[in-house]
Amino acid sequence: MKRKKLSLIALGGAALLALSACSGGGGDTAAPKPEAAPTFEAGTTMAKLADAGKITIGTKFDQPLFGLLGPSGEPEGFDVEIGKIIAAKLGIAEDKIDWKETVSANREPYIQNGEVDVVIATYTINDKRKEVISFAGPYYMAGQSILTLADNKDIKSEDDLVGQPVCSVTGSTPAAKLAEIGATPVLTDTYSNCLEPLRTGQVVAVSTDNVILAGLAAQNEGEFKVVGKPFTEEPYGIGLAKDDTDFRDWINDVLEESYEDGSYEEAWNSTAGTVLEFVEPPAVDRY
Ligand code: GLU
Repeated sequence: MKRKKLSLIALGGAALLALSACSGGGGDTAAPKPEAAPTFEAGTTMAKLADAGKITIGTKFDQPLFGLLGPSGEPEGFDVEIGKIIAAKLGIAEDKIDWKETVSANREPYIQNGEVDVVIATYTINDKRKEVISFAGPYYMAGQSILTLADNKDIKSEDDLVGQPVCSVTGSTPAAKLAEIGATPVLTDTYSNCLEPLRTGQVVAVSTDNVILAGLAAQNEGEFKVVGKPFTEEPYGIGLAKDDTDFRDWINDVLEESYEDGSYEEAWNSTAGTVLEFVEPPAVDRY
């Protein structure tokens, strides 16, 4: 991948290191090799998926660095690579993964009605969501931050959003937080759809996870900037059917193995790592 160097810009917990010349980061990754004939206890979701030889994974299609539909027609990004690691452990090759676009608001319903086997989509683990689905992970810790036009001098932190129109996405944790801090949320379905209202001045900022904003800033060089420090914690989890404990435990094992064998770091470096620095993953929460 070609890279253009950028000066170091502090981005809260995550530093902006270099700007990927391609739009999404990723695309030239060495896909993990599918396990040869792994065996699982009969009746488990793992056995079902391994027998079927395919898996349906919900992810974002418009978020550079984590899940962005690439020129190949396949999504690219860190979440996508995590999905490939899980599929490979089930003996499922990359080309047998059915990627389904999930926007923030349809993630729980898609899991609940079986439309997807898992969701890996910048998906914050929280108690409200745990009422209807279960989560493996967390495998990454993000935090809510702010994106403004590059020449904006008025907005420095979340305090400057009070009483101001700020774009975010329906069904997301940042949308709820904006209302809580007294901003006026202007909601759409995807974060990429927030960029035009920001350009035209309909909103003063876009607010969501720092890593999503970093991807949008890198994709639109010179137009936007990420400001302030992250003001929430957004532990990213892998959503799956509620109380499918065997599957959740197994995915947690796969995550821990990927931390040990270097495949997690490799997945990061080939995608989000083109823009953001690597940080050690948080401990999985076997709640
Ligand atoms: N991580 C947050 C959430 O799950 C914001 C990002 C998103 O909407 O995908 O709601």
